[in-house]
Amino acid sequence: MNNVIIIGSGCAGLTAAIYAGRANLKPLIIDGYEPGGQLSMTTLVENFPGFPDGILGPALIENMRKQAERFGTEFKSGAITDVDFSKRPFKLTAGNDVYETSALIIASGATARLIGLESERKLIGYGVSTCATCDGYFFRGKEIAVVGGGDSAMEEANFLSRFASKVYVLHRRNEFRASKIMVDRARANEKVKFVTPVAVEDISDVAKGGVEYVSLRNTETGEKSTLPVEGVFIAIGHEPNTKVFRGKLDMDENGYLITHDGSRTNVPGVFAAGDVQDHHYRQAVTAAGSGCMAALDAEKFLDANKNA
Ligand SMILES: Cc1cc2nc3c(=O)[nH]c(=O)nc-3n(C[C@H](O)[C@H](O)[C@H](O)COP(=O)(O)OP(=O)(O)OC[C@H]3O[C@@H](n4cnc5c(N)ncnc54)[C@H](O)[C@@H]3O)c2cc1C
Repeated sequence: MNNVIIIGSGCAGLTAAIYAGRANLKPLIIDGYEPGGQLSMTTLVENFPGFPDGILGPALIENMRKQAERFGTEFKSGAITDVDFSKRPFKLTAGNDVYETSALIIASGATARLIGLESERKLIGYGVSTCATCDGYFFRGKEIAVVGGGDSAMEEANFLSRFASKVYVLHRRNEFRASKIMVDRARANEKVKFVTPVAVEDISDVAKGGVEYVSLRNTETGEKSTLPVEGVFIAIGHEPNTKVFRGKLDMDENGYLITHDGSRTNVPGVFAAGDVQDHHYRQAVTAAGSGCMAALDAEKFLDANKNA
């Protein structure tokens, strides 16, 4: 029986653990398939306050983890596969393990959709990115590509044109899912060039540890070509990690958890923090901030429901 369980060990979960630990709640973190979360996939993080020279994503996460451990956080590996919120204590299942907890903080994050290329995965943090706000600054004066045809691809192309000398928007079709106003805005930007209808077949050069060009196939004619670029931003959407909560917690139409009054979900005693409930900001510092909020809200809830 636990006071508070935290699902996920990204910056939201770890920050919640630091606060819950310092409130003497002895939190338990269930790590999931990606211990450390998205930041453990990246290299230099330059926008987390307190590190004037930047810090490597995995090092930042390791620091947070040590800080959480220092205040009594316990970690268990495994992913939550089922939840029962029908009564308290809540029951959580992770494979063969069952946990009980008086309060729950969900910090299971969101996963950026990728094209599915091996080279793409290997070059994340080395020229391939899923976050323009995070990594745009690294591509000052460079030619880069944005993959996608939705609003977020158009928004990222426009944003990245502040830094890059040229932004190629690569999309499989000649038509776009993005709203007309967003497409028109990108088309009016002289640094943005549309390359359609193309599929990205490979990103080179994994052996050299950086992006030099993308291999493209015209989806109508089958013609192959290459395009020299130094960065590739994948902007084909995110998937919140909320499958296990379907039908049990309120979600928006894209599956993000809905929170109100801070970090509260529709089930009293269940709180949510980080990217799992935020499709807008998706930053380490905002995730950490909401992890703090969730821990404070959980602490208050436990105090008020001591004998429940
Ligand atoms: C390549 C890349 C570079 C980035 N660079 C920056 C940057 O420079 N600056 C910045 O501010 N932001 C950056 N971001 C964004 C930042 O990483 C995220 O906003 C932040 O990690 C969100 O934290 P989170 O804790 O909400 O979720 P996540 O980091 O996504 O962590 C989710 C956690 O939940 C766990 N989990 C998921 N499902 C389950 C389950 N069923 N059971 C148990 N556990 C589960 C996962 O294993 C993981 O531990 C970057 C993201 C990426 C992908």
